[in-house]
Amino acid sequence: MIDGGHEQVSYFSDTETGLRAIVAVHDTTLGPGLGGTRILDYDTEERALEDVLRLSKAMTYKAAAADLDLGGGKAVIVGDPDEITDEALFEAYGRAVDCLAGRYITSVDVNSGVDDMDVVARTTDHVVGTSDGLGDPSPITAHGVFHGIRACLEAVYGTETVADREIVVQGLGKVGRTLAADLAARGADVAVSDVDEAAVAAFADEHDAETVPPEAVYDRDCDVFAPCAVGGVVNDETVDRLECDIVAGAANNVLAERRHATALRERGILYAPGYVINAGGLITVAAEHFGGAREDAYEDAAAIGDRLLGLIERADERGTTVLEAADAYAEERLEGAESTTLAQP
Ligand code: NAD
Repeated sequence: MIDGGHEQVSYFSDTETGLRAIVAVHDTTLGPGLGGTRILDYDTEERALEDVLRLSKAMTYKAAAADLDLGGGKAVIVGDPDEITDEALFEAYGRAVDCLAGRYITSVDVNSGVDDMDVVARTTDHVVGTSDGLGDPSPITAHGVFHGIRACLEAVYGTETVADREIVVQGLGKVGRTLAADLAARGADVAVSDVDEAAVAAFADEHDAETVPPEAVYDRDCDVFAPCAVGGVVNDETVDRLECDIVAGAANNVLAERRHATALRERGILYAPGYVINAGGLITVAAEHFGGAREDAYEDAAAIGDRLLGLIERADERGTTVLEAADAYAEERLEGAESTTLAQP
């Protein structure tokens, strides 16, 4: 906790339902810690703790860099996701969240969904991402990524137009397929790739798009590589293969390690930090928390473009990666905040 600057870590257990959960509140300088609930069968308690510490800290940076008045928090429920289905367990979890009195606001994450949050909402108000909320954030995330890509194009080519740009979208899931369709609709030369062959074929059919086999994306000559599938795709094995000018996509933790940001920069490839460009999801649940509408979230997500351009300019001025510029910006916001006390619910 001390090394990571975490404010609070709480362990919860409920013998009746078997709930075992850890909630980490990293930093509430800018507002209550908001972050999803991840359900995973961690090998050891230490692994679960490490994950929740890492993820909650990442949420602080994501919220700060998105100019949101929110802090960072995250929760893990330990157990086999297929067996964590009991409503009583989610009600118990809601009571756990509730006793943090609004310092932590929960939402969906890996293996937890809207239905689970509906149950959590029976026992706490400190939950977003319910069926009464603003709905699936994925199209808004895609909207933010679209504007982020435009900002990168502006920075690299001096024009933000996507028409005729060659853009490879990796992953045609909830975010990737919306992004790829938006890009194609604006005249981009979109090539798509997914391990799900049916998804690729359906998209290619509908949009007359080119397809790329999963492994070939890293060697594909293009203007923009947009990873929208899984994390760690820029790694020691792929970083020297990339034949693009820009890496900008929705995936979390695109870089296997931070040093890969430097490796990309040295190769003259602009990397848009995942946590900046994919903030549309957080922006959506933040809008829900603050009582905004879905249209407001779309508008705020579009502003990711200008925010990213500002960070690219800062990185150029300082001779750093955009990742370093984004981290520094988030830290400046935290340091400059008027309130350095714990946020009140
Ligand atoms: P999803 O699960 O709906 O889609 C992921 C897609 O990637 C699937 O179609 C899957 O078949 C494909 N895929 C998996 N491995 C692949 C590989 N090796 N090569 C090519 N395709 C592969 O997920 P999503 O909601 O679209 O999110 C995509 C990424 O964006 C994830 O990293 C997620 O964490 C991140 N993200 C999503 C949101 C959101 O609002 N959904 C917000 C922020 C970040």
